[in-house]
Amino acid sequence: VAEKETSNEALIPKMPPFEYSPPPYTGPSATEILQKRKQFLSPSMFYFYNKPLNIVDGKMQYLYDDNGRRYLDAFGGIATVCCGHCHPDVVNAIVDQTNRLQHSTILYLNPTIVDFAEALASKLPGDLKVVFFTNSGTEANELAMMIARLYTGCHDIVSLRNAYHGNAAGTMGATGQCNWKFNVVQSGVHHALNPDPYRGVFGSDGKKYARDVEDLIAFGTSGHVAGFISEAIQGVGGIIELAPGYLPAVYSSIKKAGGLCIADEVQSGFARTGSHFWGFETQGVVPDMVTMAKGIGNGIPLGAVVTTPEIAEVLTRRSYFNTFGGNPVCTAAGLAVLKVIEREKLQENAHVVGSYLKERLTALKDKHEIIGDVRGRGLMLGVELVTDHQLKTPAKVETMHVMEQMKDMGVLVGKGGFYGNVFRITPPLCFTKNDADFLVDVMDYMMSKM
Ligand code: PLP
Repeated sequence: VAEKETSNEALIPKMPPFEYSPPPYTGPSATEILQKRKQFLSPSMFYFYNKPLNIVDGKMQYLYDDNGRRYLDAFGGIATVCCGHCHPDVVNAIVDQTNRLQHSTILYLNPTIVDFAEALASKLPGDLKVVFFTNSGTEANELAMMIARLYTGCHDIVSLRNAYHGNAAGTMGATGQCNWKFNVVQSGVHHALNPDPYRGVFGSDGKKYARDVEDLIAFGTSGHVAGFISEAIQGVGGIIELAPGYLPAVYSSIKKAGGLCIADEVQSGFARTGSHFWGFETQGVVPDMVTMAKGIGNGIPLGAVVTTPEIAEVLTRRSYFNTFGGNPVCTAAGLAVLKVIEREKLQENAHVVGSYLKERLTALKDKHEIIGDVRGRGLMLGVELVTDHQLKTPAKVETMHVMEQMKDMGVLVGKGGFYGNVFRITPPLCFTKNDADFLVDVMDYMMSKM
């Protein structure tokens, strides 16, 4: 028996070593926090795991609970942490700026804010040079859609089914999943067929899906539109990389209809795709506006819209400002993030480690019937679970089960997709090959036991 137990023990994947010990936690228990959360925050049960984790520390790709237990954060916050939790350069930039000047308004000049705007603009192609800072992805998309409407004088916007663009009235309208919509007025958005290579009606034929946008413009609008908004890889929607050739064809139809093309880079930006700095570059297009948040500040509340001087001019017709958007503390974090991505070659790492991880996950698909699809690029990967490959029946319960078990073994992944049956793997970009091995070994181990 002892021999058998030893050999079973040997099969359990081991987390790679990591030299950091968080300080002892002395705060309230998880049960007390949960009770307060239910009482004083949203009563919704919107958290992962039957018994939610009390996460009190973070270091690079790892999180620590109140018992000092380490978890590999393969969700990277919510694709928010690009350099790593509490990366020392980002922390120091925030502390230095906070000690010097915590808040400044648009009424005065400030070097940090303009330096970051300049650095950000230098990462974008063409004439995308004017930056408007916001506090979140929702605000950035609201602003971009408003600018498109002001610039074109049209109201109609085309977005994609299954997209997620935010939770305010306009962006909720652009979002294409009932899971995320309340029944309030969200006018003027037309949702096109999703160019989803796995579940979409035209498979991987991007040009066929693009014809649906032409139809929407011809039959659902006056023939003129304000714009088109889409992610290059849908994040919340379940890591769906738009079918190849889709964006160039749609951008051309939208331009013909007088509209502006908005790239929502809230998840796919800041080197996450590995092959490119921005997701839209994977389809070879240049948008009229790019919106961003999440990775821009390594999880600090910051968002931005970047557009051309000609388009930006519409906002000079009235006084336009955002009290906290572009706060010096957040923009100091943003500057540090860009420097860390460059110096630590995080884009290259996302490409190398992401390709390796995708290869290993794809091999797992051949081993476990439950895996229907493995997709994405760089460190933005999805694993979709189905109970029937032909019918693609979503394995929702099994997804929750595996996720719980993986957590118990120290790996945190995200969950998404319309049916909640897709693992979202979007770790900090400092993720290593050893981390990738550990993640896949844990997933494999758990699936073998099902
Ligand atoms: N756009 C995309 C692609 C997102 O994934 C999200 C959030 O998940 C948003 C916009 C909204 O961002 P925020 O939650 O910062 O408002």
